Amino acid sequence: MSKKIMILPGDGIGPEIVAQAKAVLEAVDKKSGLGLAFEEGEIGGAAIDSSGEPLTEETLEAAGQCDAVLLGAVGGPKWDQLDRDIRPERGLLKIRSRLGLYANLRPAILYPQLADASSLKAEIVSGLDILIVRELTGGIYFGEPRGIRVLANGEQQGFNTYVYSEYEIERIARTAFEAARKRRGRLCSVDKANVLEVTVLWREVVERLAPEYPDVELSHMYVDNAAMQLVRAPKQFDVMVTGNMFGDILSDAAAMLTGSIGMLPSASLNETGFGLYEPCHGSAPDIAGQGVANPLATILSAAMMLRYSLDMDGAADLIEQAVHKVLDEGLRTADIFTQGCRKVTTAEMGAAVVNAL
Ligand code: NAD
Repeated sequence: MSKKIMILPGDGIGPEIVAQAKAVLEAVDKKSGLGLAFEEGEIGGAAIDSSGEPLTEETLEAAGQCDAVLLGAVGGPKWDQLDRDIRPERGLLKIRSRLGLYANLRPAILYPQLADASSLKAEIVSGLDILIVRELTGGIYFGEPRGIRVLANGEQQGFNTYVYSEYEIERIARTAFEAARKRRGRLCSVDKANVLEVTVLWREVVERLAPEYPDVELSHMYVDNAAMQLVRAPKQFDVMVTGNMFGDILSDAAAMLTGSIGMLPSASLNETGFGLYEPCHGSAPDIAGQGVANPLATILSAAMMLRYSLDMDGAADLIEQAVHKVLDEGLRTADIFTQGCRKVTTAEMGAAVVNAL
């Protein structure tokens, strides 16, 4: 039975990197007879330009009817002055919340070929393999009330609400426990329970579930310490689970440990296994249109899509092996380039992965 993938290239480098990931998917489809079908839509600034809103209801509905979504990135200076409610990022928040994509999985893997590209010493990061599980549809990014109000003295005051209910904590914790179970069996829950009541509850709920996963060793860490430990001794971590805002920040820090944000895929899943797959990075307006962006994070996101939403592990393995192969051959986009390697463009990197398949 054919599987339908909605492709949303977005803005900036989005169309460049997604084109390469699509070519890789087409190649693996041809090789393994997966029966993939593609549909394309607009999100972010591109959608604002054509329809006035960052994600139309029609596109959202069409995406929901596909088996998975592959997204590039959204945003850019062209749309920065727009009202907050119709900014490109709103399209992303809308698709995540309306499709119930509450679990964001971000692997931070240091490819041995890239140990020198990390900003940390090779011995601290080599062999790094962390999975950050971030809650994506709740917490302070969505809590109400929110806004900027004018106080009696005429001064403006900004406010947001940090809120998590038990069920939201429980389902993301279960995702993380299950993931830890399939990996090295260690889970670190990150909170700020010494200051924030919402994360006191977070810790309580995670603790409550622990007896159901006796094979997983659970620990807790305050977010400030977690940030420090990530750059001090990152290999101590296996799976980390945390809320939306802390996860946003920690996963970017973990990204840099691996040398380039251009290497990191992500998956955002709902309760049915439907997922949105996208690179961890943004639309990189500073390099858009130059053909130098690294397409590997998006290609690896496509591999995650085959594994987590389409049940095609073999095809996912093939893509990951092909990525290893091109790195072994010394091909590097500018962001991961080191002396002695061969610098390639976005399209050359994509073509090399297709060839390696
Ligand atoms: P960014 O991730 O786009 O870029 C940060 C730096 O990393 C830049 O120097 C960029 O050139 C580089 N970079 C990113 N991806 C790369 C790749 N594949 N290959 C090589 N280099 C790469 O973050 P930013 O500059 O803070 O944000 C730019 C725009 O992207 C903003 O409009 C922001 O709102 C948006 N954004 C979107 C998403 C998303 O769509 N999920 C995420 C973050 C930021």
